Amino acid sequence: MEKVDLKNLTLPELTAWVEGLGLKPFRARQIFAWIHRPDFTGFDQMTDIAKHVRALLAEKARLSRLEPARVEHSTDGTVKFAFNLEDGHVIESVLIPEDDRHTLCVSSQVGCAMGCNFCLTGTMGFIRNLTAAEIIGQVDAAIRLRMAASQQQQMDGWQTQGAPRWINNLVFMGMGEPLLNFDNLLKAINILMEQRGHDFSGRRITVSTCGIVPKMKQLGQQVPVNLAVSLHAVEDEIRDQLMPVNKTYPVDELLRACREYPLPPRRRIMIEYVMIKGLNDSPAQARLLVKKLHGIRCKINILPYNENPDFPYQRPDDETVENFRQILRRAGHTTLLRHSRGADISAACGQLAAQSGVEAT
Ligand code: SF4
Repeated sequence: MEKVDLKNLTLPELTAWVEGLGLKPFRARQIFAWIHRPDFTGFDQMTDIAKHVRALLAEKARLSRLEPARVEHSTDGTVKFAFNLEDGHVIESVLIPEDDRHTLCVSSQVGCAMGCNFCLTGTMGFIRNLTAAEIIGQVDAAIRLRMAASQQQQMDGWQTQGAPRWINNLVFMGMGEPLLNFDNLLKAINILMEQRGHDFSGRRITVSTCGIVPKMKQLGQQVPVNLAVSLHAVEDEIRDQLMPVNKTYPVDELLRACREYPLPPRRRIMIEYVMIKGLNDSPAQARLLVKKLHGIRCKINILPYNENPDFPYQRPDDETVENFRQILRRAGHTTLLRHSRGADISAACGQLAAQSGVEAT
């Protein structure tokens, strides 16, 4: 009989499985705490669990673990990991260190069906959903790398004062559309938020969507996480061109879903807007964006396009970007201007494993 991957189970699921073996429910809490320690290597480490129970676990269960096949360090401190999955596919995650926090951008699928036409992952097509264990495995691997690097004092300044928080923020902005892998996404978030494991706060987790409208509200109702929406254009004819999903869920429908998203108090939706020269960067388009966002509690993240030889788009000049930003600011919007991190290692969103030789099926 196939062994159960315990990394794939939420605490309630693990409790049911443990009880099925005839063990007391408290064993599940002990096991859960052990297996979600990033430095956990095997059942033998569980010194507070009797030997015969450990032997039973080893007989019935397994613990998947992702090890990076390749780690690339950018000159700006960004680190990109490539992981070989058990079936040979490759996914990537990106660690973005900043002064006050360390963010891990995780993948949710191998490839992506959405075909946004500025995105390398989109050119792969959809291959498969990641399991919850594969999503969590990216977090564990990044934490292990940070722990090891810190121990070797190779990454000065990475360790915050007091108890180390190896990764502060998780963003589901890597390969794939997270809301199209909804069940495994929810399971992974529930496992990552579990107090006996990683204990991430929902405030520290952001799920980014290209606009899968029916799943947006469902997400907010089930887990108290932040939402980011890749908008990039507010005219349907332009957004249709950039993001085929717009033909199914056009701009006004998407923005209605943003208004209806059950946002926890004092939080705002992050509107992502990649600025592309001559396409979506005019003052008139900035004013239309302001009008369309009326009534949405949001902040706007402007990302000047990161040019790539595989796509025909260009980055607008700094003055155009600044003018656009000032229009949003004068209208009262909190507007962040982000430049792509890790551009020299192709770590920007949408430039992940398509460069690792992964073939779409
Ligand atoms: S931008 Fe995101 S949703 Fe669009 S194709 Fe790329 S990975 Fe998929």
